[in-house]
Amino acid sequence: PAGPDTDRQLSARMVPYGNRQFLLSVRDVTRIHRLEQMRRDFVANVSHELRTPLTVIAGYLEALAEDAQDDPALLRTYRSMEGQATRMRQIIEDLLTLSRLEAAETRPGDGEPVSVPAMLASLVEDARILASEARLDINLESDTGLWLNGVEQELQSAFSNLVSNAVRYTPAGGSISVRWYEDRNGAHFEVQDTGIGIAAHHIPRITERFYRVESDRSRATGGTGLGLAIVKHVLQHHDARLRVESRLGEGSRFICDFPAERIIRRANPATALAA
Ligand code: ADP
Repeated sequence: PAGPDTDRQLSARMVPYGNRQFLLSVRDVTRIHRLEQMRRDFVANVSHELRTPLTVIAGYLEALAEDAQDDPALLRTYRSMEGQATRMRQIIEDLLTLSRLEAAETRPGDGEPVSVPAMLASLVEDARILASEARLDINLESDTGLWLNGVEQELQSAFSNLVSNAVRYTPAGGSISVRWYEDRNGAHFEVQDTGIGIAAHHIPRITERFYRVESDRSRATGGTGLGLAIVKHVLQHHDARLRVESRLGEGSRFICDFPAERIIRRANPATALAA
């Protein structure tokens, strides 16, 4: 029953009970939702407040490094401090992205036409430059007429997180394949790598904020521990889901499944020209 508290939120669930009977279980989740909201606001506010002082510190460090060109030891110290400031900035940006995603109210079907093929072409090009030193072979196979109804910036952030993870967790000489295709179940974005892989018991937890299998490796390669949490929220916004298949020491495959209702068919440019 709704008392004087007009914001009361209830969660209802049907539980099987005996033969062809069900129990309706109703729970008052008002307090839990309020605490969640407070946590989200707190993280967003702290992140926002940290942005400006950090930018100032980074600016001073750059100036100090310029002045220390003749002192290699001091220069190294400043460069290393600058590196740490950049890391902090990345964490803050990821936290803000995550807060925005959590706060966004979206309805099924929300969005506008997004050219995923164009997005992937430029994303993979960037990744190739990033991975050239590690001699990684990055392949792209993409259906050029397959677009999505979605939010471009969010999809970009999810796909680039998955590709950059593949790059970061694949040792030199390995290969990565990125695929974008449609089948009778919907549209699928897939990144497969021949990297270090993930042990089965870690897989259910890797989309949690700051959950890392090997935190040293993640940090050393520039990870914030928030990438897959961002991916998970973006996919939720697009009525999509994430599947992870991985074997330790052999590699991983991350698959995003988008429902058919999200698909927009655009004429293939090659076909249009021929016609
Ligand atoms: P991070 O910034 O630490 O990479 P993510 O949220 O992107 O954070 O990923 C969480 C953890 O999942 C990583 O720390 C890593 O242990 C594991 N992981 C993610 N992608 C891969 C991959 N392609 N291969 C192996 N491990 C991965």
